[in-house]
Amino acid sequence: MLKAESPKKFDLVVIGGGPGGYVASIRAAQLGWKVACVEKEPVLGGTCLRVGCIPSKALLESSERFVEAREDLAAHGIKVGGVELDLARMMKRKDEIVRVLTLGIDALFKKNKVVRVRGQGRLAGGGKVIVEGEGEAVDLAARHILIASGSRSASLPGVVVDHDRIATSTEALAYPGVPQHLVVIGAGAIGLELGSVWSRLGAKVTVLEYLDRILPGMDAEIASEALKSFKRQRLAFRLGARVRGARAEGSGCVVEVEGTSPVECDRVLVAVGRVPCTEGLGLESAGVKTDANGRIVVDERFATSVEGVYAIGDVIGGAMLAHKAEEEGIACVERLVTGFGHVDYQAVPNVVYTQPEVASVGRTEEELRETGVGYKKGVFPYRANGRARCLGHTEGMVKVLADAKTDRILGVHILGARAGDLVAEAAVAVAFSSSSEDVARACHAHPTLAELLKEAALAVDGRAIHA
Ligand code: NAD
Repeated sequence: MLKAESPKKFDLVVIGGGPGGYVASIRAAQLGWKVACVEKEPVLGGTCLRVGCIPSKALLESSERFVEAREDLAAHGIKVGGVELDLARMMKRKDEIVRVLTLGIDALFKKNKVVRVRGQGRLAGGGKVIVEGEGEAVDLAARHILIASGSRSASLPGVVVDHDRIATSTEALAYPGVPQHLVVIGAGAIGLELGSVWSRLGAKVTVLEYLDRILPGMDAEIASEALKSFKRQRLAFRLGARVRGARAEGSGCVVEVEGTSPVECDRVLVAVGRVPCTEGLGLESAGVKTDANGRIVVDERFATSVEGVYAIGDVIGGAMLAHKAEEEGIACVERLVTGFGHVDYQAVPNVVYTQPEVASVGRTEEELRETGVGYKKGVFPYRANGRARCLGHTEGMVKVLADAKTDRILGVHILGARAGDLVAEAAVAVAFSSSSEDVARACHAHPTLAELLKEAALAVDGRAIHA
């Protein structure tokens, strides 16, 4: 925390203490810079740690265990009786995970001598940031300013969010009880992850999606297989359903869908994307340009239209992912300090933590077809992998797309257990321009799920061994 006697001149002032901002702060400090990080929330970690990635993963894990204990352990020869949900305990565990991790960032700041400043940061021109919090405003002088203010849930016209019955992911991470009927608007990562949690815990869940598919942007074949699996898990889907409005009525809610009858439920989760947080930053008066979607415009150095002011993460263009923000924060800072630093966006993976998980890196089949790139395809099913059988997770597949001429891996798409972990090897392969032959010839331990990628790489050349 900044104390009265603390220095107020910094090499770098970062606005935002989420994964983009706190990682950039630490990296700049490692490189010898004097850094301050401004955060308006009482804890560091941003949306990801406080009300996003981490608490949702905690609940996904717990709810998966609940289903496993009730339905799946019998197949292992384990008899379990009287399995009951203790939602309060589940929520407490989630909160404790968040608490420990956010405190961990404080410890990292201390270790790296990053000064944490509590309050809302605003550009005041001439390399100055004014921080307004509960007490007196603090002026910070910065040689460089990095905006990493993140994003917030997008709203939908006609949908009156009351943060109770009609709410966003923040509230859906802390419902006091299991809804009877939860309507989820939007079949993206948030809708599917939180829809899965509450469905597993006993809610009837209906997902309303405007498009004729789920998971826009992901490989279509993988998304279509994922949809079949989610339906088998009792999640109900209405695709091509455009929500026109939602309101609380009586003791429930009514959701209006274009062209069909309204849907009644007791809770609504609005998960139709996110928008950049740019309010209160003083962007306009400072002359920082934003695009038509409200995102800050930056060049390849993450420099904004104002000299000395940079931006990264959800507040600029591209995928709204914590790890993309982290990469950008590091690249931006390293470039400022050393002259080198860049992000290989083709190698940024994307993971949805449902069961089965969905993970991808590189280009989809649709993108390759649209751009006329010749490709070869290798697919390997989970059911043919020994470890997957032992785990009892035989749903899904790994798909490798390689350049038809050079064999360079262009994309890897995975549906199945631990896909989010498996995609790491694929990301390294894409980052190092590996061929499918490279991956196929690398020895993978047996029996592991990792062999799925090796076999899919072998399948590119029609020589998978186990299928
Ligand atoms: P999203 O953009 O991924 O999906 C929103 C969905 O809502 C789309 O499919 C869209 O067609 C649909 N939609 C929009 N308007 C609609 C309407 N009127 N009626 C019905 N459907 C409508 O958004 P999200 O799931 O809210 O996620 C927001 C961001 O956060 C994304 O960038 C996502 O990548 C990121 N995120 C990532 C993860 C992860 O990596 N696991 C988890 C959560 C969020």
